Amino acid sequence: MPTYLVGGFVRDLILNRPNKDIDFVCVGSGIELATEVAAALELPPPVVFRNFGTAMLKTGEFELEFVGARKESYRADSRKPWVEDGTLEEDQQRRDFTINAMAISLQAQGFGDLIDPFGGIGHLRKKVIQTPLDPVITFSDDPLRMMRAIRFANQLDFDIEPETFAAIISQAERIRIVSAERVIDELNKIILCPVPSYGFKLLFHSGLLRHFFPELVALHGVEYVDNHAHKDNFFHTLQVLDNVAKVSDDLWLRWAAILHDIAKPATKRFSPQHGWTFHGHEDRGARMVPGIFRRLKLPLNEHMHFVQKLVRLHLRPIALVKKEVTDSAVRRLLFEAGDSVDALMILCRADITSKNHERVGRYLRNFDLVEHKMTEVEEKDRVRNFQPPVTGDEIIRLYNIPPGRIIGDLKDEIKEAILEGVIRNDREEALRFLADIAAKKGLILSSNPYE
Ligand code: ATP
Repeated sequence: MPTYLVGGFVRDLILNRPNKDIDFVCVGSGIELATEVAAALELPPPVVFRNFGTAMLKTGEFELEFVGARKESYRADSRKPWVEDGTLEEDQQRRDFTINAMAISLQAQGFGDLIDPFGGIGHLRKKVIQTPLDPVITFSDDPLRMMRAIRFANQLDFDIEPETFAAIISQAERIRIVSAERVIDELNKIILCPVPSYGFKLLFHSGLLRHFFPELVALHGVEYVDNHAHKDNFFHTLQVLDNVAKVSDDLWLRWAAILHDIAKPATKRFSPQHGWTFHGHEDRGARMVPGIFRRLKLPLNEHMHFVQKLVRLHLRPIALVKKEVTDSAVRRLLFEAGDSVDALMILCRADITSKNHERVGRYLRNFDLVEHKMTEVEEKDRVRNFQPPVTGDEIIRLYNIPPGRIIGDLKDEIKEAILEGVIRNDREEALRFLADIAAKKGLILSSNPYE
């Protein structure tokens, strides 16, 4: 059966990029070929996806995928293509970009020959993304390809060929027919690039972004009142995202960067005394996070809570350094941020995007001080993963009172006293403090706490 390596693996082989997914296309049945290869390599039988006519083998860290060459035709009245067996050339034509449409022959005769009908190798050299056929039809047939064009441009640091980019602009609205899951998959790949602002700028200028992420587009623009302008929060956000990307690969920390100022348009005010303000944008922004996650089909789990927490707290460290850094303010921040405190500090440092080097240096030195203080306070008081030194059950037993609101109030008072530095985070001190506050409420000990 004539067989070829094809697609992303060929592209990455030429670019010298690691790729563990190897796609084989054959003129015939991919499932039969996979079964024969498995037998020859003494591997377990392939996993077969009969609906797609594909079969997959795993060997070592490689995933080998086998498919018969096919031809795809799209009809105006359906989003699903009509698929039928085809030649290698037809298979290459249905691929999204010239750099993804190259094949390498595995025939005995001509083994290793590159079959490149659309000039993919030249486009790799020139670093451009271009569709093999008419880009308007290519993108209209499967609008996800517009996201893929931008994702590849960002991952490979390529340009998008002008006619191809113009077609994205003209077809952008069709992204609305693609499921949120597929869009977000590509968006997350863009976010994980070394310089994600490039992908976001392409998404913005092509008009794609406003169709699935209007809140981010709303950050764009500068308004003037009496010659006072505020900064463009869209480009500021992208700068923060790039800054985070330089030091962390964490997708959710990158999402926190994207969303940290998301409520600025909704909270923007101008007053002659204070100029432009965005009061409360951190709380309002945190409240916007679940709605955005739900719509974009991002997970509504601890990742979302982490992003929400970072958005809510992102001004706190900077507020700390503006005043004198008190132990109690540091304790409160450690208590509220918990295990996310290191991520929070990365976000806050990334948020300093001033062009004034002297000012940036001063802020960053102040953050060093805050972090130093955090280490000191944490060593002493261990509030980062705060566990109440006296539990509710114990209070019930000690004072022989039924469970109720008063238990929560007493626990809160103890916690407040620790955070304020009235007592240390220590069981003995907490019990003594409890005795005082309980007595003030007229509660009488019914058993000895030191037993
Ligand atoms: P990566 O592994 O980084 O996603 P890849 O190029 O291997 O890169 P896949 O999504 O695995 O991407 O796709 C494999 C190949 O299938 C592509 O190289 C391309 O030839 C083709 N392809 C994938 N998706 C599409 C699409 N929506 N339209 C046309 N061809 C596609």
